[in-house]
Amino acid sequence: MVAHILIVEDESALSTLLAYNLEKEGFTVRIAEDGERAIEALAEEPPDLVLLDWMLPHVSGIEICRRIRRDPATHDLPVIMLTARGEEADRIRGLETGADDYVTKPFSPAELIARVRALLRRARPAIGAEELTAGDIVMDLAAHRVRIAGADVELGPTEFKLLRHFLEHPGRVYSRDQILDAVWGRDINVEDRTVDVHIGRLRKSLRAATGRDPIRTVRGAGYSLEV
Ligand code: CA
Repeated sequence: MVAHILIVEDESALSTLLAYNLEKEGFTVRIAEDGERAIEALAEEPPDLVLLDWMLPHVSGIEICRRIRRDPATHDLPVIMLTARGEEADRIRGLETGADDYVTKPFSPAELIARVRALLRRARPAIGAEELTAGDIVMDLAAHRVRIAGADVELGPTEFKLLRHFLEHPGRVYSRDQILDAVWGRDINVEDRTVDVHIGRLRKSLRAATGRDPIRTVRGAGYSLEV
């Protein structure tokens, strides 16, 4: 199960411990030490799940959670609240703000990781799946093969990765920068135009197979897969 987790936590000892344990399990992790950095991180690199501390300096965890739910780009993002408060009233308040789950400090990393996996399975069944599907597009990850309406479609390695990224997040709009990070990796120096070139190739292959174009260009924002 490969998923990107954003940890929003101002206690560095705890965030470091969580990051270590999550990375050991194969997750990729980014840490934001306060609410403002969390908002930046959410915009720059949408995670698959957020671990959100309740008590944060400047902008509280509850306010971050509300913002996540209000923003159409993140409204269905899985959120687990971390809190030192165990009282029932707070628990209910946390869930009312839109958190999906709730873990009271102190907790063991193993317990938290179990909750993370459970929530990811619920929220994104595609994670850990052998096959990704959207409409009549089926990607067999083990065989590295794509079929559309039962017919094999040949894709180059970059177009395959691009399509995989879209199939893992159908309907979500990604900017060129986000696509670059997700498909090429953030350390590689590739021009934005390269994204357009490969999107163009992917489009051509999909259009040849389906007779339509499932990749939507969102002006000023990026691309998404609409099936
Ligand atoms: Ca805190």
